[in-house]
Amino acid sequence: MRSSVLLCLAAFAASPALAAPAFAPAVKADYEHRLGALFDWFHRNPELSYKETNTAARMARELRSIPGIEVTEGVGGTGVVGVMRNGDGPAVLVRADMDGLPLKEASGLANASTVVQAGIDGVQSPVMHACGHDMHMTSLVGTALRLAAMKEAWRGTVVFVVQPAEERIGGARKMLEDGLYTRFPKPDYALALHVDADSPTGTLIADPGIAASSSDSVDITIHGVGAHGAYPHQGKDPIVMGAEIVLALQTLVSREISPLTPGVVTVGAFHAGAKHNIISDRAELQLTVRSDDETVRRTLLDGIRRIAQNVGRMNGMPEDRLPEVKVSIESTPVTLNDGALTARMRTALAAAFGAAALNSPPRTGMGAEDFAYFVQPELGVPGFYFYVGGTPQAAFDAARAGGAPVAGHHSPFFRIDPEPSVRLGTEAMTVAVLELLGKVAATP
Ligand SMILES: [Zn+2]
Ligand SMILES: [Zn+2]
Repeated sequence: MRSSVLLCLAAFAASPALAAPAFAPAVKADYEHRLGALFDWFHRNPELSYKETNTAARMARELRSIPGIEVTEGVGGTGVVGVMRNGDGPAVLVRADMDGLPLKEASGLANASTVVQAGIDGVQSPVMHACGHDMHMTSLVGTALRLAAMKEAWRGTVVFVVQPAEERIGGARKMLEDGLYTRFPKPDYALALHVDADSPTGTLIADPGIAASSSDSVDITIHGVGAHGAYPHQGKDPIVMGAEIVLALQTLVSREISPLTPGVVTVGAFHAGAKHNIISDRAELQLTVRSDDETVRRTLLDGIRRIAQNVGRMNGMPEDRLPEVKVSIESTPVTLNDGALTARMRTALAAAFGAAALNSPPRTGMGAEDFAYFVQPELGVPGFYFYVGGTPQAAFDAARAGGAPVAGHHSPFFRIDPEPSVRLGTEAMTVAVLELLGKVAATP
Protein backbone atom coordinates (compact mmCIF):
# COMPACT_ATOMS: atom_id res chain seq x y z
CA MET A 1 0.00 0.00 0.00
CA ARG A 2 2.67 2.39 1.13
CA SER A 3 4.75 1.99 -2.00
CA SER A 4 1.77 2.47 -4.30
CA VAL A 5 0.83 5.67 -2.47
CA LEU A 6 4.39 6.87 -2.96
CA LEU A 7 4.16 5.99 -6.64
CA CYS A 8 1.01 8.11 -6.98
CA LEU A 9 2.65 11.02 -5.21
CA ALA A 10 5.66 10.69 -7.46
CA ALA A 11 3.38 10.84 -10.47
CA PHE A 12 1.77 14.03 -9.20
CA ALA A 13 5.17 15.51 -8.41
CA ALA A 14 6.14 14.83 -12.02
CA SER A 15 2.93 16.44 -13.27
CA PRO A 16 3.71 18.64 -16.26
CA ALA A 17 1.66 21.61 -14.97
CA LEU A 18 4.82 23.61 -14.35
CA ALA A 19 3.44 27.05 -15.11
CA ALA A 20 0.10 28.78 -15.40
CA PRO A 21 -1.13 31.94 -17.06
CA ALA A 22 -1.64 34.98 -14.83
CA PHE A 23 -5.42 34.63 -14.99
CA ALA A 24 -5.42 31.00 -13.73
CA PRO A 25 -6.65 31.97 -10.22
CA ALA A 26 -9.63 33.73 -11.82
CA VAL A 27 -10.47 30.54 -13.75
CA LYS A 28 -10.26 28.59 -10.49
CA ALA A 29 -12.69 31.03 -8.89
CA ASP A 30 -15.01 30.78 -11.94
CA TYR A 31 -14.95 27.00 -11.56
CA GLU A 32 -15.87 27.19 -7.89
CA HIS A 33 -18.66 29.73 -8.37
CA ARG A 34 -20.14 28.72 -11.67
CA LEU A 35 -18.39 26.31 -14.02
CA GLY A 36 -18.40 23.30 -11.68
CA ALA A 37 -22.16 23.51 -11.27
CA LEU A 38 -22.60 24.10 -15.00
CA PHE A 39 -20.60 20.98 -15.88
CA ASP A 40 -22.65 19.02 -13.36
CA TRP A 41 -25.90 20.20 -15.02
CA PHE A 42 -24.67 19.28 -18.50
CA HIS A 43 -23.49 15.90 -17.30
CA ARG A 44 -26.85 15.07 -15.70
CA ASN A 45 -28.86 16.34 -18.68
CA PRO A 46 -27.35 15.00 -21.92
CA GLU A 47 -29.33 15.13 -25.18
CA LEU A 48 -29.00 13.23 -28.44
CA SER A 49 -27.71 14.66 -31.72
CA TYR A 50 -30.02 17.27 -33.33
CA LYS A 51 -32.24 17.10 -30.19
CA GLU A 52 -30.09 19.35 -27.96
CA THR A 53 -32.97 21.73 -27.20
CA ASN A 54 -32.49 22.19 -23.44
CA THR A 55 -28.71 22.17 -23.78
CA ALA A 56 -28.84 24.91 -26.43
CA ALA A 57 -31.25 26.97 -24.33
CA ARG A 58 -28.93 26.69 -21.34
CA MET A 59 -25.89 27.67 -23.44
CA ALA A 60 -27.77 30.67 -24.87
CA ARG A 61 -28.70 31.75 -21.34
CA GLU A 62 -25.13 31.34 -20.09
CA LEU A 63 -23.67 33.35 -22.98
CA ARG A 64 -26.33 36.07 -22.71
CA SER A 65 -25.48 36.55 -19.04
CA ILE A 66 -21.90 37.53 -19.99
CA PRO A 67 -21.65 41.24 -20.82
CA GLY A 68 -21.09 42.12 -24.48
CA ILE A 69 -22.10 38.88 -26.18
CA GLU A 70 -24.78 39.04 -28.87
CA VAL A 71 -26.49 35.63 -28.93
CA THR A 72 -28.42 34.04 -31.82
CA GLU A 73 -30.25 30.73 -31.37
CA GLY A 74 -31.51 28.21 -33.90
CA VAL A 75 -28.52 28.37 -36.27
CA GLY A 76 -28.44 25.13 -38.27
CA GLY A 77 -31.02 23.49 -36.01
CA THR A 78 -30.18 23.81 -32.32
CA GLY A 79 -26.90 25.70 -32.88
CA VAL A 80 -26.09 28.82 -30.85
CA VAL A 81 -23.78 31.66 -31.93
CA GLY A 82 -22.42 34.29 -29.53
CA VAL A 83 -20.52 37.25 -30.98
CA MET A 84 -18.24 39.25 -28.66
CA ARG A 85 -16.94 42.43 -30.33
CA ASN A 86 -14.07 44.39 -28.87
CA GLY A 87 -12.85 46.91 -31.42
CA ASP A 88 -10.84 46.44 -34.60
CA GLY A 89 -8.88 43.25 -35.05
CA PRO A 90 -9.14 39.72 -36.39
CA ALA A 91 -12.11 37.43 -35.76
CA VAL A 92 -11.57 34.11 -33.98
CA LEU A 93 -14.09 31.27 -33.93
CA VAL A 94 -14.22 29.17 -30.74
CA ARG A 95 -16.30 26.04 -31.08
CA ALA A 96 -17.86 23.55 -28.65
CA ASP A 97 -20.14 20.64 -29.50
CA MET A 98 -23.25 19.80 -27.49
CA ASP A 99 -24.51 16.28 -28.09
CA GLY A 100 -24.45 13.17 -25.90
CA LEU A 101 -24.55 9.53 -27.00
CA PRO A 102 -27.19 6.77 -26.90
CA LEU A 103 -25.59 4.89 -23.98
CA LYS A 104 -26.72 3.92 -20.50
CA GLU A 105 -24.23 5.54 -18.14
CA ALA A 106 -22.40 3.05 -15.90
CA SER A 107 -19.69 5.40 -14.62
CA GLY A 108 -20.80 5.06 -11.00
CA LEU A 109 -20.64 8.84 -10.64
CA ALA A 110 -23.05 10.63 -8.31
CA ASN A 111 -24.17 12.84 -11.22
CA ALA A 112 -24.57 9.97 -13.70
CA SER A 113 -27.28 10.57 -16.29
CA THR A 114 -30.61 8.76 -16.05
CA VAL A 115 -32.01 10.53 -19.12
CA VAL A 116 -33.97 8.61 -21.76
CA GLN A 117 -34.78 10.40 -25.01
CA ALA A 118 -36.08 9.69 -28.51
CA GLY A 119 -33.45 10.33 -31.19
CA ILE A 120 -34.08 11.73 -34.67
CA ASP A 121 -34.91 8.19 -35.76
CA GLY A 122 -37.68 8.07 -33.13
CA VAL A 123 -35.96 5.34 -31.11
CA GLN A 124 -35.99 5.88 -27.33
CA SER A 125 -32.62 5.32 -25.70
CA PRO A 126 -30.69 6.20 -22.58
CA VAL A 127 -28.39 9.18 -23.12
CA MET A 128 -24.94 9.90 -21.70
CA HIS A 129 -22.21 12.49 -22.11
CA ALA A 130 -19.67 9.77 -22.89
CA CYS A 131 -17.41 11.86 -25.13
CA GLY A 132 -16.91 14.89 -22.91
CA HIS A 133 -18.93 17.46 -24.84
CA ASP A 134 -20.15 18.65 -21.41
CA MET A 135 -16.53 19.61 -20.72
CA HIS A 136 -16.28 21.43 -24.07
CA MET A 137 -19.37 23.58 -23.43
CA THR A 138 -18.29 24.39 -19.88
CA SER A 139 -14.81 25.40 -21.09
CA LEU A 140 -16.36 27.61 -23.77
CA VAL A 141 -18.38 29.46 -21.13
CA GLY A 142 -15.22 29.70 -18.99
CA THR A 143 -13.32 31.18 -21.95
CA ALA A 144 -16.09 33.71 -22.61
CA LEU A 145 -16.06 34.76 -18.95
CA ARG A 146 -12.29 35.35 -18.98
CA LEU A 147 -12.27 37.20 -22.32
CA ALA A 148 -15.13 39.43 -21.13
CA ALA A 149 -13.15 40.22 -17.98
CA MET A 150 -9.89 40.92 -19.84
CA LYS A 151 -11.06 43.17 -22.66
CA GLU A 152 -8.12 45.54 -22.19
CA ALA A 153 -5.80 42.65 -23.14
CA TRP A 154 -7.19 42.04 -26.64
CA ARG A 155 -8.82 43.63 -29.70
CA GLY A 156 -11.06 42.01 -32.29
CA THR A 157 -14.08 39.72 -32.39
CA VAL A 158 -14.70 36.31 -30.88
CA VAL A 159 -17.41 34.14 -32.42
CA PHE A 160 -18.52 31.44 -29.97
CA VAL A 161 -20.05 28.54 -31.86
CA VAL A 162 -22.07 25.93 -29.97
CA GLN A 163 -22.66 23.14 -32.44
CA PRO A 164 -25.26 20.37 -32.60
CA ALA A 165 -24.77 16.78 -33.74
CA GLU A 166 -21.00 16.29 -33.79
CA GLU A 167 -21.53 12.59 -33.04
CA ARG A 168 -23.55 12.31 -36.25
CA ILE A 169 -20.95 14.47 -37.99
CA GLY A 170 -23.62 16.77 -39.38
CA GLY A 171 -23.99 19.81 -37.13
CA ALA A 172 -21.02 21.83 -38.40
CA ARG A 173 -22.17 21.57 -42.00
CA LYS A 174 -25.73 22.54 -41.02
CA MET A 175 -24.49 25.69 -39.26
CA LEU A 176 -22.41 26.68 -42.30
CA GLU A 177 -25.39 26.08 -44.61
CA ASP A 178 -27.44 28.32 -42.31
CA GLY A 179 -25.03 31.22 -42.86
CA LEU A 180 -22.47 30.87 -40.08
CA TYR A 181 -19.82 32.59 -42.24
CA THR A 182 -22.18 35.13 -43.86
CA ARG A 183 -24.68 36.17 -41.17
CA PHE A 184 -21.93 36.43 -38.54
CA PRO A 185 -18.34 37.75 -38.76
CA LYS A 186 -16.30 35.35 -40.89
CA PRO A 187 -13.40 34.14 -38.75
CA ASP A 188 -9.73 34.62 -39.58
CA TYR A 189 -8.97 31.58 -37.39
CA ALA A 190 -11.03 28.69 -36.02
CA LEU A 191 -10.24 26.94 -32.72
CA ALA A 192 -11.67 23.90 -30.96
CA LEU A 193 -10.66 21.56 -28.19
CA HIS A 194 -11.56 18.00 -27.23
CA VAL A 195 -11.03 16.41 -23.83
CA ASP A 196 -8.94 13.23 -24.05
CA ALA A 197 -9.65 10.46 -21.54
CA ASP A 198 -6.46 8.68 -22.70
CA SER A 199 -4.20 11.58 -21.61
CA PRO A 200 -3.36 12.72 -18.08
CA THR A 201 -4.88 15.88 -16.67
CA GLY A 202 -2.50 18.81 -16.88
CA THR A 203 -1.38 17.89 -20.40
CA LEU A 204 -2.26 19.19 -23.86
CA ILE A 205 -1.88 17.64 -27.31
CA ALA A 206 -1.35 20.39 -29.87
CA ASP A 207 0.27 18.77 -32.90
CA PRO A 208 0.43 20.01 -36.49
CA GLY A 209 -1.06 18.00 -39.33
CA ILE A 210 -3.86 15.52 -38.91
CA ALA A 211 -6.00 16.19 -35.84
CA ALA A 212 -8.75 13.76 -36.91
CA SER A 213 -9.35 11.37 -39.83
CA SER A 214 -12.03 11.55 -42.47
CA SER A 215 -15.15 9.49 -41.87
CA ASP A 216 -17.78 8.22 -44.28
CA SER A 217 -20.85 6.22 -43.37
CA VAL A 218 -21.77 3.88 -46.23
CA ASP A 219 -25.00 1.89 -46.63
CA ILE A 220 -25.10 -1.14 -48.94
CA THR A 221 -28.46 -2.62 -49.87
CA ILE A 222 -28.15 -6.10 -51.36
CA HIS A 223 -31.11 -7.28 -53.40
CA GLY A 224 -31.72 -11.01 -53.70
CA VAL A 225 -34.51 -13.31 -54.73
CA GLY A 226 -36.47 -14.83 -51.86
CA ALA A 227 -37.13 -18.58 -51.73
CA HIS A 228 -37.71 -21.55 -49.40
CA GLY A 229 -34.54 -22.35 -47.48
CA ALA A 230 -34.71 -25.95 -48.71
CA TYR A 231 -34.98 -24.86 -52.39
CA PRO A 232 -31.98 -22.51 -52.67
CA HIS A 233 -31.69 -22.94 -56.45
CA GLN A 234 -34.99 -21.05 -56.82
CA GLY A 235 -33.60 -17.91 -55.16
CA LYS A 236 -30.59 -15.59 -55.01
CA ASP A 237 -29.29 -15.46 -51.46
CA PRO A 238 -28.45 -11.90 -50.32
CA ILE A 239 -26.89 -13.20 -47.08
CA VAL A 240 -24.29 -15.16 -49.05
CA MET A 241 -23.67 -12.08 -51.23
CA GLY A 242 -23.35 -9.96 -48.10
CA ALA A 243 -20.84 -12.36 -46.60
CA GLU A 244 -18.81 -12.30 -49.83
CA ILE A 245 -18.88 -8.51 -49.84
CA VAL A 246 -17.75 -8.30 -46.19
CA LEU A 247 -14.77 -10.56 -46.87
CA ALA A 248 -13.83 -8.95 -50.19
CA LEU A 249 -13.85 -5.51 -48.52
CA GLN A 250 -10.98 -6.68 -46.31
CA THR A 251 -8.69 -6.55 -49.36
CA LEU A 252 -9.21 -2.82 -49.90
CA VAL A 253 -6.93 -1.72 -47.07
CA SER A 254 -4.62 -4.75 -47.26
CA ARG A 255 -4.14 -4.81 -51.08
CA GLU A 256 -5.15 -1.49 -52.65
CA ILE A 257 -3.61 1.24 -50.52
CA SER A 258 0.02 1.66 -49.56
CA PRO A 259 1.04 -0.32 -46.47
CA LEU A 260 2.49 2.95 -45.15
CA THR A 261 -0.86 4.77 -45.39
CA PRO A 262 -3.63 4.21 -42.85
CA GLY A 263 -7.21 3.37 -43.73
CA VAL A 264 -10.16 1.58 -42.16
CA VAL A 265 -13.17 -0.21 -43.64
CA THR A 266 -15.35 -1.58 -40.84
CA VAL A 267 -18.68 -3.30 -41.41
CA GLY A 268 -20.53 -2.33 -38.25
CA ALA A 269 -23.96 -3.76 -39.05
CA PHE A 270 -25.31 -6.63 -41.16
CA HIS A 271 -29.08 -7.02 -41.15
CA ALA A 272 -30.95 -9.68 -43.10
CA GLY A 273 -33.50 -12.43 -42.89
CA ALA A 274 -36.45 -13.35 -40.72
CA LYS A 275 -36.43 -17.10 -40.18
CA HIS A 276 -34.32 -20.29 -40.32
CA ASN A 277 -35.88 -21.70 -43.47
CA ILE A 278 -36.50 -18.63 -45.61
CA ILE A 279 -33.99 -17.19 -48.07
CA SER A 280 -34.34 -13.44 -47.68
CA ASP A 281 -34.74 -11.07 -50.62
CA ARG A 282 -32.70 -8.30 -49.04
CA ALA A 283 -29.67 -7.68 -46.84
CA GLU A 284 -28.27 -4.41 -45.52
CA LEU A 285 -24.72 -3.52 -44.51
CA GLN A 286 -23.60 -0.40 -42.65
CA LEU A 287 -19.95 0.61 -42.91
CA THR A 288 -17.64 3.24 -41.53
CA VAL A 289 -14.69 4.24 -43.70
CA ARG A 290 -11.71 6.23 -42.40
CA SER A 291 -8.72 7.80 -44.10
CA ASP A 292 -6.10 10.49 -43.62
CA ASP A 293 -6.20 11.93 -47.13
CA GLU A 294 -8.61 12.48 -49.99
CA THR A 295 -6.86 10.09 -52.41
CA VAL A 296 -7.14 7.14 -50.03
CA ARG A 297 -10.70 8.18 -49.18
CA ARG A 298 -11.65 8.12 -52.87
CA THR A 299 -9.86 4.76 -53.44
CA LEU A 300 -11.74 3.15 -50.55
CA LEU A 301 -15.17 4.53 -51.49
CA ASP A 302 -14.75 3.64 -55.19
CA GLY A 303 -13.49 0.18 -54.20
CA ILE A 304 -16.51 -0.48 -51.98
CA ARG A 305 -18.85 0.33 -54.87
CA ARG A 306 -16.87 -1.83 -57.32
CA ILE A 307 -16.73 -4.83 -54.97
CA ALA A 308 -20.41 -4.67 -53.99
CA GLN A 309 -21.65 -4.40 -57.57
CA ASN A 310 -19.39 -7.12 -58.87
CA VAL A 311 -20.37 -9.55 -56.12
CA GLY A 312 -23.94 -8.98 -57.35
CA ARG A 313 -22.85 -9.76 -60.92
CA MET A 314 -20.87 -12.80 -59.75
CA ASN A 315 -24.08 -14.15 -58.20
CA GLY A 316 -26.06 -13.63 -61.39
CA MET A 317 -28.06 -10.55 -60.39
CA PRO A 318 -29.30 -8.43 -63.33
CA GLU A 319 -27.75 -4.98 -63.87
CA ASP A 320 -30.79 -3.17 -62.46
CA ARG A 321 -30.76 -5.27 -59.25
CA LEU A 322 -27.10 -4.99 -58.30
CA PRO A 323 -26.22 -3.99 -54.71
CA GLU A 324 -26.83 -0.28 -54.10
CA VAL A 325 -24.06 1.70 -52.40
CA LYS A 326 -24.89 5.03 -50.75
CA VAL A 327 -22.46 7.32 -48.96
CA SER A 328 -24.57 8.99 -46.27
CA ILE A 329 -24.54 12.64 -45.29
CA GLU A 330 -22.81 11.50 -42.09
CA SER A 331 -19.43 12.14 -43.70
CA THR A 332 -16.57 14.45 -42.89
CA PRO A 333 -13.18 15.21 -44.44
CA VAL A 334 -9.85 15.05 -42.60
CA THR A 335 -9.37 17.69 -39.87
CA LEU A 336 -6.01 19.32 -40.63
CA ASN A 337 -4.23 21.64 -38.23
CA ASP A 338 -2.79 24.59 -40.12
CA GLY A 339 1.02 24.48 -39.94
CA ALA A 340 1.79 28.15 -39.24
CA LEU A 341 -1.12 28.60 -36.85
CA THR A 342 -0.23 25.42 -34.93
CA ALA A 343 3.40 26.50 -34.57
CA ARG A 344 2.21 29.83 -33.14
CA MET A 345 -0.24 28.11 -30.79
CA ARG A 346 2.38 25.63 -29.55
CA THR A 347 4.74 28.46 -28.70
CA ALA A 348 2.01 30.33 -26.83
CA LEU A 349 0.82 27.24 -24.93
CA ALA A 350 4.38 26.23 -24.02
CA ALA A 351 5.04 29.75 -22.72
CA ALA A 352 1.87 29.66 -20.62
CA PHE A 353 1.99 26.11 -19.25
CA GLY A 354 5.59 24.96 -19.70
CA ALA A 355 6.91 22.89 -22.62
CA ALA A 356 6.46 19.68 -20.58
CA ALA A 357 2.67 20.17 -20.63
CA LEU A 358 2.67 19.56 -24.40
CA ASN A 359 2.34 15.86 -25.06
CA SER A 360 2.71 14.21 -28.47
CA PRO A 361 1.52 10.62 -28.04
CA PRO A 362 1.33 8.46 -31.17
CA ARG A 363 -2.15 8.23 -32.65
CA THR A 364 -3.87 4.99 -31.70
CA GLY A 365 -6.90 5.03 -34.00
CA MET A 366 -8.77 6.96 -36.66
CA GLY A 367 -11.35 9.07 -34.84
CA ALA A 368 -13.16 11.75 -36.88
CA GLU A 369 -14.50 15.24 -36.25
CA ASP A 370 -16.80 17.50 -38.21
CA PHE A 371 -14.85 20.59 -37.09
CA ALA A 372 -13.16 19.81 -40.45
CA TYR A 373 -16.03 21.61 -42.22
CA PHE A 374 -15.23 24.95 -40.53
CA VAL A 375 -11.66 24.82 -41.85
CA GLN A 376 -12.01 23.35 -45.35
CA PRO A 377 -9.26 24.83 -47.56
CA GLU A 378 -11.74 26.57 -49.91
CA LEU A 379 -13.12 28.60 -46.97
CA GLY A 380 -9.70 30.08 -46.22
CA VAL A 381 -10.01 29.74 -42.44
CA PRO A 382 -6.92 28.16 -40.84
CA GLY A 383 -7.83 25.85 -37.97
CA PHE A 384 -6.28 24.59 -34.77
CA TYR A 385 -7.81 21.64 -32.90
CA PHE A 386 -6.19 20.48 -29.68
CA TYR A 387 -6.75 17.93 -26.93
CA VAL A 388 -6.89 18.44 -23.16
CA GLY A 389 -5.97 15.54 -20.84
CA GLY A 390 -8.96 14.35 -18.83
CA THR A 391 -7.85 11.49 -16.57
CA PRO A 392 -5.73 11.89 -13.41
CA GLN A 393 -2.29 10.25 -13.69
CA ALA A 394 -3.15 8.28 -10.54
CA ALA A 395 -5.92 6.46 -12.46
CA PHE A 396 -3.43 5.37 -15.16
CA ASP A 397 -1.01 4.22 -12.46
CA ALA A 398 -3.75 2.27 -10.69
CA ALA A 399 -4.79 0.62 -13.97
CA ARG A 400 -1.18 -0.33 -14.69
CA ALA A 401 -0.96 -1.86 -11.20
CA GLY A 402 -3.90 -4.15 -12.03
CA GLY A 403 -6.79 -1.89 -11.02
CA ALA A 404 -9.80 -0.84 -13.07
CA PRO A 405 -8.89 0.12 -16.65
CA VAL A 406 -9.29 3.74 -17.73
CA ALA A 407 -12.46 3.88 -19.83
CA GLY A 408 -12.20 5.44 -23.27
CA HIS A 409 -14.58 7.71 -25.15
CA HIS A 410 -18.00 6.29 -26.07
CA SER A 411 -17.74 3.80 -23.19
CA PRO A 412 -20.57 3.62 -20.60
CA PHE A 413 -17.78 3.79 -17.99
CA PHE A 414 -16.33 7.07 -19.37
CA ARG A 415 -15.48 9.45 -16.51
CA ILE A 416 -13.12 12.36 -16.92
CA ASP A 417 -12.11 14.50 -13.97
CA PRO A 418 -14.07 17.68 -14.67
CA GLU A 419 -12.25 20.30 -12.59
CA PRO A 420 -8.68 19.97 -13.96
CA SER A 421 -10.05 19.33 -17.48
CA VAL A 422 -12.37 22.34 -17.54
CA ARG A 423 -9.85 24.64 -15.89
CA LEU A 424 -7.01 23.71 -18.27
CA GLY A 425 -9.40 23.73 -21.25
CA THR A 426 -10.56 27.23 -20.32
CA GLU A 427 -7.04 28.48 -19.66
CA ALA A 428 -5.60 26.98 -22.87
CA MET A 429 -8.43 28.28 -25.08
CA THR A 430 -8.15 31.73 -23.50
CA VAL A 431 -4.38 31.70 -24.07
CA ALA A 432 -4.98 30.69 -27.71
CA VAL A 433 -7.46 33.54 -28.33
CA LEU A 434 -5.24 36.08 -26.56
CA GLU A 435 -2.28 34.98 -28.67
CA LEU A 436 -4.30 35.75 -31.80
CA LEU A 437 -6.02 38.91 -30.58
CA GLY A 438 -3.65 40.31 -27.99
CA LYS A 439 -0.98 39.24 -25.57
CA VAL A 440 -0.92 37.61 -22.17
CA ALA A 441 1.99 37.25 -19.79
CA ALA A 442 2.74 33.87 -18.23
CA THR A 443 3.72 33.63 -14.60
CA PRO A 444 5.83 30.78 -13.29
ZN1 LIG B 1 -17.53 11.20 -29.66
ZN1 LIG C 1 -16.44 14.01 -29.03
